[in-house]
Amino acid sequence: MTAQLIDGKMIAAQVREEVAANAARRVAAGKNKPGLATVLVGDRIDSATYVASKQKACAEVGMDSLSQNLPGDISQEELERVIKSLIDDRSVHGILVQLPLPSHLDEERVLQLISIEKDVDGFSPINIGRLAQKGREPLFVPCTPYGCIYLLEKSGVKIEGANAVVLGRSNIVGMPAALLLIGKNATVTVCHSRTKDLPDVIRSADILIAAIGKTEFVRGDWIKPGAAVIDVGINSKPDATKKSGYRLVGDVNFDEAKEVAGFITPVPGGVGPMTIAMLMRNTLRAAEIQDP
Ligand code: NAP
Repeated sequence: MTAQLIDGKMIAAQVREEVAANAARRVAAGKNKPGLATVLVGDRIDSATYVASKQKACAEVGMDSLSQNLPGDISQEELERVIKSLIDDRSVHGILVQLPLPSHLDEERVLQLISIEKDVDGFSPINIGRLAQKGREPLFVPCTPYGCIYLLEKSGVKIEGANAVVLGRSNIVGMPAALLLIGKNATVTVCHSRTKDLPDVIRSADILIAAIGKTEFVRGDWIKPGAAVIDVGINSKPDATKKSGYRLVGDVNFDEAKEVAGFITPVPGGVGPMTIAMLMRNTLRAAEIQDP
């Protein structure tokens, strides 16, 4: 069997179009454009690239973006002062602090500071706490796991009652993905580096979300026939046929898995484009909440 490809690029483009139409409708009705503030501390090239693509996405969907590029040796107090000024700024509906922060800064205190209404990354303890509690709703869900669930739902994969395995338990992907699946009535197993008999656990999965950052780690014969496979991993693999000398691959061996799975996301072009699309969606929602 050949799996149905879940086209994240196309689904993300549809999400962005929807957001753009809604943002334009707001402006036509005389309301503020949704505004996203990005906070970048230091000069990590990968972080700067992510922030630049978030700002570009804002412009494309008709949102304002405000960038705060701060020196890598900024003090905790100064960083908190900047965040507080963004919280008070009425033109800013969402605040995104690009992680990781330099090690001398207290990331948890910074995330705690962001008011729940502006926490478009969904990482503040209140949003995560609500996600973890039955019958409570977070205002915002972290963008990458939100994108994973959105891809499943758009592809018609039944989550309720499914056995789901989440491979990886990070705060930004694995744990919130598991909580979202539980909220949608899947039966969820979370695996990590100490999990025993991993292939067997994965073989029980109707839905697999893989987020460990290990090149093509999950083999085709670990996949249950017909399962939905969402591959979050982004790994570079040496490839002499490419000008760069490498290509991007996921945490799942795509060529093997696509012969067994029912649905599968490619890397690149699967989960990757969804993260920024869901950030745009969250920022629009933030504007609707704060400035209805
Ligand atoms: P992370 O913080 O490094 O966490 C990795 C998780 O994988 C940990 O829970 C770790 O277990 C587990 N793990 C590592 N090796 C393992 C193994 N051999 N067997 C089982 N579990 C193992 O990673 P992350 O930030 O969640 O990112 C994961 C991947 O997703 C990376 O490739 C990253 O680039 C990608 N990513 C993509 C997007 C996107 O937009 N598409 C967004 C975020 C991340 P322990 O907890 O036991 O250490």
